[in-house]
Amino acid sequence: MLTDTTTEQKIAERIDADTAVARWNDWQWQVGHAIRDIATFERALGITIPAEERAALEETTAKFPLRITPYYLSLIEREDYANDPVFMQCFPSTRELEIGGCDLADPLAEDADHPAPCITHRYPDRVLFLVSNVCAMYCRHCTRKRRVGDVDSIPSRPEIAAGIAYIRSHPEIRDVLLSGGDPLMLPDEMLDLILTELSAIDHVEVVRIGTRIPVVLPQRVTDGLVAMLARHHPVWINTHFNHPKEITATSERALAKLADAGIPLGNQTVLLANVNDCPRLQRTLVQKLVKNRVRPYYLYQCDLSEGLSHFRTSVAKGVEIIENLIGHTSGFAVPTYVIDAPGGGGKIPVMPTYLISWSDSKVVLRNYEGVITTYPEPADYRPAYCDGNCSECSLKLMEEGAREQGTTGIALLLSDLDPTSTLVPENTDRMERRNDA
Ligand SMILES: *Cc1c(COP(=O)(O)O)cnc(C)c1O
Repeated sequence: MLTDTTTEQKIAERIDADTAVARWNDWQWQVGHAIRDIATFERALGITIPAEERAALEETTAKFPLRITPYYLSLIEREDYANDPVFMQCFPSTRELEIGGCDLADPLAEDADHPAPCITHRYPDRVLFLVSNVCAMYCRHCTRKRRVGDVDSIPSRPEIAAGIAYIRSHPEIRDVLLSGGDPLMLPDEMLDLILTELSAIDHVEVVRIGTRIPVVLPQRVTDGLVAMLARHHPVWINTHFNHPKEITATSERALAKLADAGIPLGNQTVLLANVNDCPRLQRTLVQKLVKNRVRPYYLYQCDLSEGLSHFRTSVAKGVEIIENLIGHTSGFAVPTYVIDAPGGGGKIPVMPTYLISWSDSKVVLRNYEGVITTYPEPADYRPAYCDGNCSECSLKLMEEGAREQGTTGIALLLSDLDPTSTLVPENTDRMERRNDA
């Protein structure tokens, strides 16, 4: 849906009668005039929130701040605002104060896996680096709700320097994921500094930026920003479109600038009840994304963070959506549906089942149409025995070009070389009885 200029004009005038629409496309005007309280929100959109809800809403925004750009607000359909998917992502709900039995303050245990300030090191070869604590718009479904917008958690320069030092001293880190908050809320110079430091580290092969700027403040994607990012290739960007109506002419221009600068673009969608929990809507979304050179990357099951229970869908809904995508549309338009495991287990992919059965000679598969078919296993396939010695192997992976990475987890159970046959959780009753004996 395109935002028509009359809507923008009306909103601009209601927010700031003096400057009005002329400065609408200036991202600093957008940030400076971000709506941060309910009364201004009502005035800007031209609605009245029922009086009986107001006190509870004020209580909600005291706990989880409200912030929305005039641009993102202009995407709300005023006539039916309460059901609008943009409204639901940016306007507080009193249900955020409900803390359900399964809710966790830090569901992904990001605070526990913190070896350095601003760093979460969960996977072997990559880290999450939280370089900013503010966003242009505070998503009501934010998984880091407890921290974002909290003035006490703004990363300081020494903390960022300590994060970079950690990355420098860990040669196994080849991928750094900048997130926050929104990294693109930092001034260009600060971001340039961080990217310059990271590019100077030999073992850092790629930097990724997680940002919602193209969705909520596309005006921020200036020529200057894009030129600066392009000086630090390879830089990848993952953005966060949740609904087709967020893909406007303005956001399309921002995406085109980024793609033209050679930045590979991905998208991470969060599955949200009554916002985007519909297979047809998701198909429209992914098709619009690839049309704009954005590759759908992940579809997230909503986390167990406090105050999100009203956004959660069943896992079944996610599986149904993927069932409606695979085979039905372009393969590269299908995201991986993941559940981020509570307790810090990381992202776990979830899929419909395609491999139905197997024997020594054949596997049985089903396709998206329901065709059940077989694939005969080759009679004479003999994979090389892997002793981990690549220089002697006929596959010619030159060891200099390959990173040594210890095999762990389920891959370890599969390896030819390692004798480990079982992974046993710590502290099982059975093991404790053995220790007692
Ligand atoms: C999601 C995430 C990553 C990146 O995971 P990918 O699957 O490589 O995109 C890295 N660290 C943490 C803590 C994460 O949550």
